[in-house]
Amino acid sequence: MLNLALFGPPGAGKGTQSQKLIDQFNLSYISTGDLLRKELAAKTSLGQQAKDIIASGGLVSDEIIVQLIEKTISGNPGTKGFLFDGFPRTLIQAYILEGLMIKLHTSLTALVNLEVPNEVSIERLVNRGKTSGRSDDHDTVIRQRLREYEEKTLPVLEFYSDKGICHNLDATQAIEEVNQQILGIIHQELSKQLFNVVLFGYPGSGRGSQGRALAKAFGLEYVATGEMLEEEIRSGSNFGQKIQKLYDNGELVPDEIVIPLIEKRLARREGVKGFIFKGFPRTLVQAYILEGLLKKHGASIDLVLDLEVPTLELIKRLDQRSKTDRCMPYDTSTEKIVRRLQEHEQKTIPVIDKYQQLHRITRVNGEGSFDEVFAKLSEKISQGIEGVTPPA
Ligand code: AMP
Repeated sequence: MLNLALFGPPGAGKGTQSQKLIDQFNLSYISTGDLLRKELAAKTSLGQQAKDIIASGGLVSDEIIVQLIEKTISGNPGTKGFLFDGFPRTLIQAYILEGLMIKLHTSLTALVNLEVPNEVSIERLVNRGKTSGRSDDHDTVIRQRLREYEEKTLPVLEFYSDKGICHNLDATQAIEEVNQQILGIIHQELSKQLFNVVLFGYPGSGRGSQGRALAKAFGLEYVATGEMLEEEIRSGSNFGQKIQKLYDNGELVPDEIVIPLIEKRLARREGVKGFIFKGFPRTLVQAYILEGLLKKHGASIDLVLDLEVPTLELIKRLDQRSKTDRCMPYDTSTEKIVRRLQEHEQKTIPVIDKYQQLHRITRVNGEGSFDEVFAKLSEKISQGIEGVTPPA
């Protein structure tokens, strides 16, 4: 998701720039000022509570703002991202925004601070007052709004500077110029973001070969836990020896071993555009762990793909594989194949259900030739990446 907050004193041009960005990125727009004015016009109890405060140029209570924002966010499921205008306006609201983003499994991409001196703000708002019909666009109220801004809103900047996503720009420049600079900021922040894919599918669905090919085609890192464990064994490390012992005893490799391996891969971020996870998460516990690991890197899961192949076809494919040199230790008998399919059903299907609630799953029919399936998966990944990448 691309989530932006436009920041700046009244009259900085937040509304004007918002209109451009909404068109450019197809974002859901949340202007707390507009939302409040709607409540006022509809004479709702929320509107009545806010009326006098707005008229005097004060800030409406955080309690009212959080209700407004929650209502709007829940009314926009599946959006490409949010554009906040006039929010967060207090430090408390910055924390509220953090909470809301976490709930959506995302984060704020950038906060753009439109800087204008007070005289420019006042001049612009007095001019706007001639046509806006807004009772708060006149001299004394404007001055009170600016005071509120300096006292309560400016501290929000430090909060986002500490997070490294605050960008200041000179908003006295022409509208087009400011827009171009905002686009530059968005590009810069998005290029830092990882694009992460989880690839689900039953054993035999082709997720391994497809995952590897997709990673190569899109410049992503392919993370397959099974292969990582084998690599570790081959390296002869202490870890590898432990894993070998577990394999020899026919035991499952515990999360305590798998997680540090994944963590190590995620830490090698230099020049990495994102990851394709295959074979992980395999259990609900691992699903929570992956969320946590990605969060540590300011990242999240952007696309969840499930490769669907009918059971009979899976058995046929796995049986065929057992007769080739691509045979895995677990392909060697029908009994083992069935056990693997059963294990997927018992442990991984609940994970897929959980992901359906959290992220929405993109299901892709895995029948047909490798190239046909690859084309379908590629299309989904392209669309996913486009969803977070600005137009050229
Ligand atoms: P705006 O349209 O953003 O200039 O907002 C107009 C008025 O609505 C402000 O002067 C405040 O009284 C109120 N308001 C808008 N957004 C907020 C917010 N996030 N927190 C508190 N008050 C707000």
